[in-house]
Amino acid sequence: MATKAKKKAKSAKPKRVSAVRRESKGGGPERDLLARLKAGAVICAEGYVFELERRGYLQAGAFVPEVLFEHPEVVEQLHLDFVHAGSDVTQALTYYVHREKLRVIGREKDLAPMNRAALRIAKGVARKTGTLFAGDLCNTNIYDPTDARALKEVERIFDEQVGWAVEAGVDYFVAETLGWVGEAELALKAIKRASKAPTVVTFAMHQETILRDGFTPGDACRRLEQAGADVVGLNCHRGPATMMPLIRDIRRAVKCHVAALPVPYRTSTQQPSFMSLTDPCCGNRRAFPVGLDPFMATRSEIFDFGREAFALEVRYLGVCCGAGPHHIRALAESLGRHPPASRYSVDMSKHAFFGTDKLIREIQTQYRDKA
Ligand SMILES: [Zn+2]
Repeated sequence: MATKAKKKAKSAKPKRVSAVRRESKGGGPERDLLARLKAGAVICAEGYVFELERRGYLQAGAFVPEVLFEHPEVVEQLHLDFVHAGSDVTQALTYYVHREKLRVIGREKDLAPMNRAALRIAKGVARKTGTLFAGDLCNTNIYDPTDARALKEVERIFDEQVGWAVEAGVDYFVAETLGWVGEAELALKAIKRASKAPTVVTFAMHQETILRDGFTPGDACRRLEQAGADVVGLNCHRGPATMMPLIRDIRRAVKCHVAALPVPYRTSTQQPSFMSLTDPCCGNRRAFPVGLDPFMATRSEIFDFGREAFALEVRYLGVCCGAGPHHIRALAESLGRHPPASRYSVDMSKHAFFGTDKLIREIQTQYRDKA
């Protein structure tokens, strides 16, 4: 009886998707983003450049992942770590591997091989782990609606990166961290010119609650939905606390799937973006990008974010810059999942002072309040 009741309680929990360990066989439903979203949440770990910076393989500032050439094995391991922690997606690290960023660091000639390296590494992990293989476009930093030459260059940047992603056979596209509706529309058009694969478009909101061309997040996402994006929403810049109110507006504004991938930092009404955070411990200096540690969200804050977002019918979930595998595991667990990394999720019952196990000696538990 007890086992039966237990079984029943278990099945009432959010559906457990074992995609992470499923072997991928050609272009079946396991490689179909929209089928997966129909069945439940899709977790996409990203924010790779911040994690690689922390691990000592990428320079903060330009944030270009030269590590793709210098230590490809580190990028592969990072993808594997995120899948182990519960990511359903392996997204190619082509963020900031576009012509403009490589020009800024003087490596424009490495554009094609660096994109291909990122795609090859991600594809290898995706196919090995049965995760979705995503191509990635991002903010160009040169978009200017009044500059025809800049617009042409933005188009070129998107066309180039879409081309390499199509060549690699991505399962779907992500266009992310966009601050302008116009730039997002150019990214979506470039994808649609070359591919029929599903597309996720996410905007990044700075301190203002409007995009740089004046649209509210809800209006911006509705425009992209109408232009054919399959999933719309927000990524980066804002922590869960200051992203969620905007996500609610977006959920009301569109019919399609919604994405929410905040940064794992404690942003506030006064300092709503991670670039605006100042640290009172250090003369109120700007904490971005390498002094953000005191603002880091805990696992339980990310767990709460996942619960709240999924309850709102926001199904494309992730954590952006600053995310470590522990955040992704907390997000997966908030959906009732048990990725392989959950084997090591916290269990204090055998802790030397706080444990409740009968083998923990009283001489230790009595000292608890002084520990
Ligand atoms: Zn980010």
